[in-house]
Amino acid sequence: MSPLPSNLPSTYSSIVLRERPKAEILPSLTDGKGTFSLVENQPLPTQLKPDQVLVKVEWVSVDPAQRGWLNDARSYVPPVKIGEIMRAGGVGRVVLAPEGSKFKVGDWVNGTLGWTEFAVARAKDLEKVTITKDIEPSYYLGALGMPMQTAYWGLMDVARIKKGERVVISGAAGAVGSIACQIALLKGCEVIAIAGGKEKCEWLRNEIGVPSVVDYKDPVFATNYKKLLGKTGTDVYFDNVGGEILDLVLTRLNKNARVALCGAISAYNTPNPRGLSNYLTLISQRAKIEGFIVFDYADRYDEASRQVGEWISQGKLKIRETRRYGLTEAVNALRGLFEGANSGKMVVKIAADGPKL
Ligand code: NDP
Repeated sequence: MSPLPSNLPSTYSSIVLRERPKAEILPSLTDGKGTFSLVENQPLPTQLKPDQVLVKVEWVSVDPAQRGWLNDARSYVPPVKIGEIMRAGGVGRVVLAPEGSKFKVGDWVNGTLGWTEFAVARAKDLEKVTITKDIEPSYYLGALGMPMQTAYWGLMDVARIKKGERVVISGAAGAVGSIACQIALLKGCEVIAIAGGKEKCEWLRNEIGVPSVVDYKDPVFATNYKKLLGKTGTDVYFDNVGGEILDLVLTRLNKNARVALCGAISAYNTPNPRGLSNYLTLISQRAKIEGFIVFDYADRYDEASRQVGEWISQGKLKIRETRRYGLTEAVNALRGLFEGANSGKMVVKIAADGPKL
């Protein structure tokens, strides 16, 4: 194994889960009262198993799903354990690799690296990624990563959108939603976007090119939504938020409509999420409602990456990110998702002023 590059520090910091939140995530990191704790001065590993590499984490993801991983509940992945580094997607550079590893020092990699400055990872759990002047590392956490895959497969396989159909998308200015709007437009659908606040709605209308956008924070949102739809309902609803908005959209479904249940961020901080009142329209409209988890499409990721990569390089798909800087900012960045603090993908750069390779 080659020695560690001499310009790396001898210790590193990570954020670990301290206590499971009952509702909102509590932000403090150092007084023993928050959801997470900052663990500092951990010695940097210098010995690795043959199948491992050491990665200097450059960017980490914050995602609404992380709130669910904090609950001690049955789900599609086990909960994060108390004392464990907070699970998160990340992009970084290999700084130590054993002889014979498929990676070499300096390679950019993407994987579940966690909220940490350095991560020991199994080489088989990492994907080598290419960085160019147009493709920045953080894109692999959003427009070229899991949120894009979610938008793509939710529309193409769960909702099975067809040219000319009307597609309503909530959480439309977020990581998944903003890509979903653009894919549906590129596929020739009529898109109606739902987002919170004037700035996000204007961005969707003026820059993303969604002709019909409704602000759910407007007190007359329900009236505006129904007026916009007119006598025709929707063929597809791509739901990122659940709750009252889902219930409203259910009142205006077309025959054979498909509702792709992607997420329900309005309910994640609530111990007792509300149920639906308007589900009987599913019967009268012969409609389907179906939940999905993006990881089930892992063996088809290449297909979506190729198609979306092409759209990005042709300038047909726009990328927006909200960036925060510093490992400890990850907690507030995650809290911010529940307050609409992000447009596009929320990402955190770990070591804005940290050591460079
Ligand atoms: P976003 O980037 O969209 O961030 C969250 C956004 O949700 C906020 O910016 C905010 O936008 C909106 N929001 C927050 N609280 C509420 C609320 N109470 N009511 C309505 N909107 C709210 O997150 P992602 O794009 O990463 O994720 C979107 C959804 O997709 C989430 O529910 C997530 O869990 C789900 N998801 C599901 C996956 C799957 O495999 N099924 C995979 C990835 C994500 P605004 O300002 O407009 O309110």
